Amino acid sequence: MASPSSAAGAAATAAAVAQPALPTTNADKIYSDVLASFQIPRDKMRLIATHMYSEFVRGLSADGAPIRMIPSYAYAMPTSHETGVYLALDLGGTNFRVCAVTLKGKGQFDVVADKFTIPDSAKVGPGAALFDFIAGAVEQFVHTHDLSAVAASSATGELTMGFTFSFPVKQESVARGALMYWAKGFDCPDVVGQDVVDLLQVALARRAVKVRVVALVNDTVGTLVAHAYKAPATVMGCILGTGTNAAYIEQLAQVTKYRGTPTPTGTMLINTEWGAFDSEGKVLPLTQFDRELDAMSNNGKQQVFEKLISGMYLGEITRRALVHLVEAGALFGGKLSTPLQTVYAFETAYMSTIEADTSPALTAVGQVLADHLAVASTTLTDRQLVKSLVQQIGTRAARLSAVGIFALLEKMGVPESKPVVVAVDGSVWLKYPGFQDRLRAALRELMGPEKAALVSVETAHDGSGTGAALIAALVDKQH
Ligand code: ADP
Ligand code: MG
Repeated sequence: MASPSSAAGAAATAAAVAQPALPTTNADKIYSDVLASFQIPRDKMRLIATHMYSEFVRGLSADGAPIRMIPSYAYAMPTSHETGVYLALDLGGTNFRVCAVTLKGKGQFDVVADKFTIPDSAKVGPGAALFDFIAGAVEQFVHTHDLSAVAASSATGELTMGFTFSFPVKQESVARGALMYWAKGFDCPDVVGQDVVDLLQVALARRAVKVRVVALVNDTVGTLVAHAYKAPATVMGCILGTGTNAAYIEQLAQVTKYRGTPTPTGTMLINTEWGAFDSEGKVLPLTQFDRELDAMSNNGKQQVFEKLISGMYLGEITRRALVHLVEAGALFGGKLSTPLQTVYAFETAYMSTIEADTSPALTAVGQVLADHLAVASTTLTDRQLVKSLVQQIGTRAARLSAVGIFALLEKMGVPESKPVVVAVDGSVWLKYPGFQDRLRAALRELMGPEKAALVSVETAHDGSGTGAALIAALVDKQH
C-alpha cells in the first residue's frame, strides 16, 4: 500500500475509488460468494469420483442401491454388418420421436424420424392417456411413411420395434421391464411397477397397429450401441439432455447381484442411472439454490446429481441465484420482475445464448434479460455479472459430467494402452457453447494429459433412435 501522504498514492487511491465497476462492498461480497459456491476444484472432483466409483460397485452388488446399475440384458454389440428396416420409439423427456432406421451394413444407416410434442396433460395422470398418445403417434408414422408394405413383407407381418424409454426400469429381459420411478417432470403413478412394453403393446393393439416391440432400451444403452456400430472402440454412452445418465460395458462377473442365465461370463451393458448419485448430498457441494430447487421439485432428495447437470434444471438454478443477487442489491438496481420470480421461467437455452455473446456491450445478454425476464434496462456491469454467473453454473455442470465419465472409465479400468471412445448425446452437450471443451478439460485434470489423450469424447448422432433399432435387429437375429 502506498502511504496516504505521497501524492502518487493519493492519486492511485482516488483512481481506485473512481472505478465504476462493482457495486457496494456488501453486494460485491455476496456476488463473489455466490460465484465461489459453484466452483469445484480438482481435488473435490477427485473426491466425488471416488465416492461415485464405490456407489457403482454398491449398485452392482444389490438391488435398491442409490445408483441402480440396471442390467440391460443387451449382451451383444453390433458388428457393423447388421441390415434391415427397424422402427424405434424415443421417449426421452422433452421430445418424443418415432423413427424408421434402415441399417445398411458397414456402419452405415439412414434414419427417418418424426417428432411429436407430448402434451403436458399426458405427462401426469393416468398412464393409459400417455401410452395412447404414443400409440397414436406410431400409427400416424406408419401411415405417413407408407410402412405397411414393409410390415406385410416381413415374416411375421409386423414391423419390429425397439423402444427407447429413458426412465429407470427394472429390466427382466431385453423386452420386459417395470418402471421404477418417474423423473424429468413425468408423473403417471399407475405406471410405476408396470411393464412398459406391455402397456405400449396393448395401446398399439387397441389401434390395430402392426408393430411388435422386441427391445426395451435406455437412451444411454442406445447411444452406446449406435455409436459402436460406427466406432467399435466405444465403451460408454452418456446423455446430457433433459436429464443425465450413462451406460457402459461391464464384465458379468462384476454384476454380483445378477443371478440370471446364461452363467455370468462375458459382458453386459449396464444402465447406471447415475443421475441418482449422492441424493443425500454427502459429497456433492450443494449451494443454497440447489437445495431450494430440490425442495420444490416433484422428486425431492432424488436425482440430485442430475439436478446439478442437466437441461431441465440449470436454468432454474440460475434464476434462483439471480433472484438472490437482486434481493441483495447486487444486480438490476435491486429490482425484481414477475418472470424473474416465476419458477422455471428461465430456460437452460437462455444460458447458451448468454454464453455465446462475446460482443463488447453484451447485447444478446441484455436482450435475453429484457425479453425473457422483463428486466428492461441493465448496465454493462449487470450483464457482465449475469454472464459470469451463467458461466460458473454451466462450468460446474460440465465438470461434474466429467467426474461421472472419469469414475465410470475407472470402473472399467480403461484406457490402458488402447484408445477408447465415449459417445455423448443430448442438447446440453450439443448446444451449450463451451460445454464440450470444459468437459474435456476437466477430464484432463482428472486423468492427466497422457491418459486423457486415449479417451475420445464424441458426439453420438441419434443414438436413442438408431440404438433401439440396432438392438431390435440384434434381438431379431437371435430368433
Ligand atoms: P431429451 O433429453 O428429452 O431426449 P434433449 O437432449 O433435446 O432431449 O434435451 C432437452 C433439454 O435440453 C431441455 O431441458 C432444454 O432445457 C435443454 N436445451 C435445449 N436447447 C438448449 C440449448 N440451446 N442450450 C442448452 N440447453 C438446451
Ligand atoms: Mg434424448
